[in-house]
Amino acid sequence: MADRRYKAQHGEDSKKPGGDRRRERYEEAPRHSAGPDKARKSEAGSQEKPAEPAGKVAGYIPQATPQARKQQAAAAAPGGSSHIFGLLLLIVVALGVCAFAWTRMRIVQVEINGSWQEVHIGTTIDRIVQSDDIAVNAGNLLSVTGNVLEQGRGDPYDVEVNGADLGYDKGSQYRIQGDEQVTIADGEDRTEDTQEEEVTVQPKLVFDGNAGAISYVSQWGTPTVKKVERGVQSGETVDGEIEQQGQDCVITKVNITPSDGQKYVALTFDDGPSKYTQQYLQILQAHGATATFFNLGQQVDSDPSDAQAIVNAGCELASHTYSHMNLPKQDADTIKSELTKAFDSIASATGVTTTMFRPPYGAFTGDCWIASGGVASVSVIWNKDSEDWRKPGVDKIVSNATDNIRSGDIILMHDGGGNRDEDVEALPKIIDKLHDAGYTFVTVSDLMKSDSSIPAEIADGTETMPEGAVWPTELG
Ligand SMILES: [Zn+2]
Repeated sequence: MADRRYKAQHGEDSKKPGGDRRRERYEEAPRHSAGPDKARKSEAGSQEKPAEPAGKVAGYIPQATPQARKQQAAAAAPGGSSHIFGLLLLIVVALGVCAFAWTRMRIVQVEINGSWQEVHIGTTIDRIVQSDDIAVNAGNLLSVTGNVLEQGRGDPYDVEVNGADLGYDKGSQYRIQGDEQVTIADGEDRTEDTQEEEVTVQPKLVFDGNAGAISYVSQWGTPTVKKVERGVQSGETVDGEIEQQGQDCVITKVNITPSDGQKYVALTFDDGPSKYTQQYLQILQAHGATATFFNLGQQVDSDPSDAQAIVNAGCELASHTYSHMNLPKQDADTIKSELTKAFDSIASATGVTTTMFRPPYGAFTGDCWIASGGVASVSVIWNKDSEDWRKPGVDKIVSNATDNIRSGDIILMHDGGGNRDEDVEALPKIIDKLHDAGYTFVTVSDLMKSDSSIPAEIADGTETMPEGAVWPTELG
């Protein structure tokens, strides 16, 4: 056993043969407290020392040599630093514990809805509300427009700290520091989540004025592009920023009032051209008058030369639709086609590019305007109906056309649609009578031009929908 211990203590030396060497080393040993080694006992005589645990032996040998002392000295220095470091660490930990206790564990006072209570510092208001079971009503969940979507699904409660309203989200997570006055009240309503969208709002068709012989597009419609907030739950929207401001399409209905105070009337002939057209033109020319002819497209197609004769005579040529249907009873496609086909027939027969028309029977509703698609700019009816279609006699036609006439009036007669002999006889009388009353005969477009309330481009009767405008698809 002695050998084993010795070998462990001396490493390579112990492997070297020779008892003398072993003894030398043991002879140096007696100054130190002796181990329990039997060999050493026998050689060191009576120097008995309390036995040390076997494990301590390792610490014994290095002190026996100068080299070992150096090693021990070298080891001592770091050993001292460790102690200081440990002490500092202990202090830091102790301070940390104190700080934690001060900042997190200290008992503080807080006034909740008028009654003081003690809580740990840093306690959240939510925890206080839950443990105190404070009776408050939750707010409701509202749609983006303010409708109640779900009762009680708003903020659970509302928090006020020292007079400052923190709401629920911030207030419930508020940590008590001590001495606050806290008010817990009913929760506020919440508004559903929203998503921002860009929407294009198409113009609507609106009317300005209730009645009048002239209905014209006083304002073309353009779309509005805007941002809206759409409620994720309700789908409702509220308007946001407008990116492009559009406008509705406006149809203005008026009776014409010449702005210069002069007396103007307009003679109009429907349903032509016909075999009477040339006679009318000759009478008008002979009596120093002009007129407006609202021709049917199908008549123009079958008699383009008489349509051209109207233009050549200095009279105005406009549309009476293609085939004289009662338009309010037609579908949208038919209404639009009745207008476009007649404009096309007139243009191809005469080169006149009018957008003025007279609806058959004077019947043209808001829905008809919608259906038109914006191909027409002016709808013209009349102020004076000669009722020539009844064939009431020449004198009756004259009186119907002229009695109580006022400046700006439009007189309705017919060129076609039956026997027009009474009209041929009545026309010179009408012209003479109104001439005698101081009236000047003008075309419908010139009559519109005499009224400064009507935009010049509309009064021309040739206005078309401008670039960027959109024809409405619904009434406003
Ligand atoms: Zn007609």
